[in-house]
Amino acid sequence: MDIEAFRKAGYGAIDAICEYYNSIESFPVMAQVEPGFLRDSLPEEAPEKGEEWNLIAKDYQEKVLPGITHWQHPNFHAYFPGNTTFEGMLADLHASAISNPGFNWSVSPSVTELELITLDWTAKMFGLSEEFHTTSAQGGSIILSSASEIAITVAVAAREKILAQMIEKNASAETTMEEITFWKGIATSKMIIYGSTQTHSIGIKAAMILGLQFRAIEVTKKDGFALRGEALTKALEDDQAKGLIPFMLIGTVGTTSSGAVDRLDEIEEVLKNYPDIWFHIDAAYAGVCLALPEMRTKCHLDVINRRVNSFSTNLHKWGLITLECSTLYVRNRVDLSNALTVTPQFLRSKQGDANSALDLRNMQLSLGRRFRSLKLWFTLRSYGQEGFRQHLRKGIALSQIFNKLIETQQAPLKIVAPPQWSLTVFRLEPVGMTDAQQLDTLNRRFWEELQTRNDAILLTQTTLPEIGFCVRFVCGTPSARMVHIEKAYAIICQIALKVLQDAQ
Ligand code: PLP
Repeated sequence: MDIEAFRKAGYGAIDAICEYYNSIESFPVMAQVEPGFLRDSLPEEAPEKGEEWNLIAKDYQEKVLPGITHWQHPNFHAYFPGNTTFEGMLADLHASAISNPGFNWSVSPSVTELELITLDWTAKMFGLSEEFHTTSAQGGSIILSSASEIAITVAVAAREKILAQMIEKNASAETTMEEITFWKGIATSKMIIYGSTQTHSIGIKAAMILGLQFRAIEVTKKDGFALRGEALTKALEDDQAKGLIPFMLIGTVGTTSSGAVDRLDEIEEVLKNYPDIWFHIDAAYAGVCLALPEMRTKCHLDVINRRVNSFSTNLHKWGLITLECSTLYVRNRVDLSNALTVTPQFLRSKQGDANSALDLRNMQLSLGRRFRSLKLWFTLRSYGQEGFRQHLRKGIALSQIFNKLIETQQAPLKIVAPPQWSLTVFRLEPVGMTDAQQLDTLNRRFWEELQTRNDAILLTQTTLPEIGFCVRFVCGTPSARMVHIEKAYAIICQIALKVLQDAQ
């Protein structure tokens, strides 16, 4: 494709995207295809000779798009939102145009500098203390692909930090490298990451990948599924008595199943006895609410600012920024670079050697990186902080409308966890049915029926301790309006009544 062909194809692509957004409601929310559908309609090998662009563009529309679930659809209420904006799309286009891996400041200074600037913008927008700003003496931040990648990155930093402390304390001038390596292996096998049963699988996965252990502490319905200080203390004491090494704790602000917020205040108290434990906050979904002053107490911003070692949120969920944009803020950037810096000759640069510029490769697992801050910059500038806040408040308001509709009891639906942020967890609870097993069976049936309408509305299921199987309804997609919430509620009621009737 030459420049003029690109110009024409580009205009065509933008037209197609505009058309897609104009007609998004005509698409089934969830892709209505079976596994392997695409293999049946595409050749088994890449074409030997290049093909006409028009044919490729047509095949995307006709063959690929039917296999897409429409996360931007106003009736998408599943998982958590995965929002995007036109500003973000344009940024990605530019980022693709200048495609480069930005691992060192020197390879594209703007890639590093815009990232640090926009991260400070968001840190300020979230009320994070200056200690987390990239302009501070020690703090730092970086945009990574996902909360999962962040958990692994942070766990590596936390592991190396604690191992270095142990070595410093125990090794002598006579200790050999072999002894240290052997000893590190033993210590690592005893190291535990803590979280709760509600911590996202990022905790288990990080431990699994790094050969560490993950301990999921029980939470209760009475406590709103939040991790409490007392349970944490018991877990830490039990494990220490067994000779294990607690070294990291993941607290969650906005759990996936119910939106719960761990009691960061109580955890902070407990950690006074464990000052070396790395305290990470996973606020992948709800962290963006720190942009709302009225939500900061609920998020325990004071504890975040006082104690946590690292905080992360996914701006690519509810936060409008196109995938991938997970932001990580650390109190001490050297903790990351101590664990992740490897500099062969070919990666050296004048600025890196002189330490006059930050090379972001030293704060992440991979070397190359996308120019992710461009979409953050475009979107934040175009929306302004005010527009960002309005978007979040709209999601919360629509969620409250859904909760009110549930209260009208057009069907015997019950909200089973305290509604949080823009998330409602509910289930079918007919009057007089109290048997847990019966309720579980009924709700699994309800869920199966809901899935038969996934062309019209899309929700997700979960299980909660002491409750069992239930359904999640999330707001926050920018295109959703009140009519969509009303429509969703009407469909949910219709299905609920059908399931009840069938059960009789
Ligand atoms: N943490 C929470 C609370 C989540 O809800 C999710 C995903 O929904 C994740 C982490 C994982 O996010 P990622 O896909 O960025 O790894």
